[in-house]
Amino acid sequence: MVMTKEQMEERRRQLAVYDGDLEHARPGYNVGEGWYAILDDLVREFAEIDDLGFLSAHEKWGHLRVSYLYSGDRKEDVEVIVKHAADRCLVSCWYCGEPGQLKQERWWRVRCDEHWSAT
Ligand SMILES: [Zn+2]
Repeated sequence: MVMTKEQMEERRRQLAVYDGDLEHARPGYNVGEGWYAILDDLVREFAEIDDLGFLSAHEKWGHLRVSYLYSGDRKEDVEVIVKHAADRCLVSCWYCGEPGQLKQERWWRVRCDEHWSAT
């Protein structure tokens, strides 16, 4: 069965978190636990903007990437929230959330000193 564009949009709307419900949002956190608290804040801030739905978060080259659904006129506010979270992730250990730095070993990842050699 091929989904129409409308059905795909509907599916994404069903998956998105609009109300700051962390239980619902956390399965979409495809990042280390050290970043969960930052994403929790982001999901709560998203809930303050009408019709803004959090979809998922992942990491690319050590940087936070966030997927969301939004078609309103507060895109700049949304980008500020995402940028703020991404900036926090850049200085927070992926594993534990303690202060860290972006480091490359086998791949780029933000780590604190203790997790320097974690895999
Ligand atoms: Zn750490």
